[in-house]
Amino acid sequence: MAETIRMDGKKLAREIEASLAKRVSKLTEKTGKKLILATILVGDDPASATYVRMKGNACNRVGMDSLKVHLPEETTTEGLLTEIDRLNDNPDIHGILLQHPVPSQIDERLCFDRISLDKDVDGVTSLGFGRMAMGEWAFGSATPAGIMKLLDHYKIKLEGKHAVVVGRSPILGKPMAMMLLNRNSTVTICHSRTRDLDKLVRSANLVVGAVGKPRFIEADWIKPGAVLIDAGYNPGAIGDIDLENAISKSSAYTPVPGGVGPMTIATLIYQTVEAAERKSEVKK
Ligand code: NAP
Repeated sequence: MAETIRMDGKKLAREIEASLAKRVSKLTEKTGKKLILATILVGDDPASATYVRMKGNACNRVGMDSLKVHLPEETTTEGLLTEIDRLNDNPDIHGILLQHPVPSQIDERLCFDRISLDKDVDGVTSLGFGRMAMGEWAFGSATPAGIMKLLDHYKIKLEGKHAVVVGRSPILGKPMAMMLLNRNSTVTICHSRTRDLDKLVRSANLVVGAVGKPRFIEADWIKPGAVLIDAGYNPGAIGDIDLENAISKSSAYTPVPGGVGPMTIATLIYQTVEAAERKSEVKK
């Protein structure tokens, strides 16, 4: 069997950032204004705070600013909607990231859907999802869009392949399935009520682990030569696929850490730059 490809998300993310830095500096020079990504964090969940900080740091690395909006744990849906409206209306803000999850008293779907389509750089709105699924322009959900960039970079063929996506969350599994379908993969979407999951995975040419359970997808289930995308990020930086034992059977895989995670952030920044460039084109 040919050598297994390690799809290095960390390396590709660095390359993407380097090319974005040039685009950012060109646009900043042209408009005389810094590009700004607004990040909204509601509450004090330490993991969410870390993700928001990492996204802010990535903005700085490419020469953008981030406007950090931190709202208290007891924020209401109305309060959050008001904040989103303010950012939608602010012409200096190019993209809006609402960190998931928000506290349980908030209607997260309503708040995601309030984000303007042209500022939805994390790809979380229903409208953006629907348009993407129909093959129309929209920013893709950042994690699956980052995975697509990684697959394309490593020239992984998708057409006619059986892709099994394990997980159907709005930000990961569902949009991932649509993106693979749009690229002519034959897609099976699995979830907690799926029967005979192991049999389905055994027939997959490409497996996406998007479950949130450490090493849930067993090495035994992997078909020789399959491509493994491990989107899982569980405590201790452990993925959803038993990569340790599955890599040798695969033709390509994303490591954890250093695979999907860095690509998510690079894609968010990439889409913010695109949003700013689109805006400056419109203004011409
Ligand atoms: P989520 O919202 O909790 O969704 C998990 C999905 O897994 C659900 O669709 C659920 O099915 C399914 N599932 C749960 N138990 C299952 C089982 N026994 N068999 C089959 N499917 C099962 O999680 P998420 O937000 O999509 O995240 C998934 C993982 O990706 C987590 O580890 C998260 O940390 C990681 N993640 C990483 C990034 C990144 O940038 N690296 C970004 C986002 C997420 P039901 O729908 O039936 O409940």
